[in-house]
This record gives sequence, C-alpha cells and structure tokens, in this order.
Amino acid sequence: MRTGDDVMAAVVGALFPVRCAGCGRPGGPVCAGCAAGLRPPPALAIPAELDGWVAAFAYEGVARELVARVKYRNERGALPWLADAMARALPSHPGPEAVVTWAPASSDRRRRSGFDHGELLARAVARRLRLRSARLLVRDAGPPQTGLGRAARGPGPRLRPAGAGARGATVVLVDDVVTTGATIGAAARALRHGGAVRVVAVTAAATPPRPR
Ligand SMILES: [Zn+2]
Repeated sequence: MRTGDDVMAAVVGALFPVRCAGCGRPGGPVCAGCAAGLRPPPALAIPAELDGWVAAFAYEGVARELVARVKYRNERGALPWLADAMARALPSHPGPEAVVTWAPASSDRRRRSGFDHGELLARAVARRLRLRSARLLVRDAGPPQTGLGRAARGPGPRLRPAGAGARGATVVLVDDVVTTGATIGAAARALRHGGAVRVVAVTAAATPPRPR
C-alpha cells in the first residue's frame, strides 16, 4: 500500500538519488549484491515480558548503516526498505486487531533530531501489515539509552501506558536496534500494565553477542 510518506520518499528519491548503504551505488538504499551479504540476527534471548521477538538482521555492516540513515540522518529511502524487511521477519501475521506501537525517544533526542525514528518505523511497519499504529507509551525524563554502556542501561527507559489503547490488545512493538533488551523489556512491561494481553517485538536489527 503506497501512502503519502511513501510517495514523498519516491519524490525525494527522484531529486536526490538514494545510494546503497554498503557500496554507494545509486539506485536504492541497498543494492542486490549488498543485500545478499546482510546476515540474519543472532539467536535472540527473548525478554520475559515479551511473547515473541524477531529481528530482520544482525546489527553490523550494511544493516548498521541503514539503521543510522533512519535514526540519525532521517534519510527516508532507507525507511521503507527496512520496514519491508521487518514485516517479512514476522513468522505470522499478528492478527487483524493487533496494534503497532513504539518506545518513544527521549524528549531531548526528539528535540535535537526533530523526529522520532521509532515512530516512523512503527508507522511504516503498520502500513505493510495493514494494521493500526498508535502511540501507546509515554516516556518520562531519564537518561537516553543510546551511548550508555550495557551496565548503565539498567532497567531501561521510564515508560508508562499512554491512555487505555493497549487494554485487551495484541501489541506489535517496533524498535530499531536491540542490544540488551532493556528498552523492549521496559516497553512490554508498561504495555502489560496498560492491559495488553500479548506483546511481540519486531526490530530492524539485533546486536550480536560480544565474544568473551
Ligand atoms: Zn551495494
């Protein structure tokens, strides 16, 4: 389904050709050769708060660059591509009544970048699944998770339900990269407090475990 955002991405793409995140060749966010080199995510340890979690890719190389384009530079060409891959990563459709949401960025981060990449990804994934997307979580002030070491991330961001939208719902939680699972775990806890009956996460990438 093409929507206003997708059409805008196409117009911007025609004016400023999108280049491959791997080799720089013009024509799209990832060329066929670089796409073939994308690696599947590592085996995921699913946080207890979640009923399931899938990721499209291992967070390395081209996948890392694609996420950076969406997260830091708001290059819209990468967004539809990643959203397609994320929707395809789900083993089955979560059901026609499911709601897609995201863990909101900190207000600092949002102010700096002018957009919330998690929201953009969630809305794009929802369109591909033909599901509703809704802001089901509120983030209270606290340190941003990006840039903190693994230990300092602790229990994750301070999230709470936004209204009653999660009550009785199956929720598809969208995020860009998962490292420790602290953010998606905190988000799933808050969604359950809000009454969600089932929470599955879909992320663009997952960080491979570090060698010891
Ligand atoms: Zn390439």
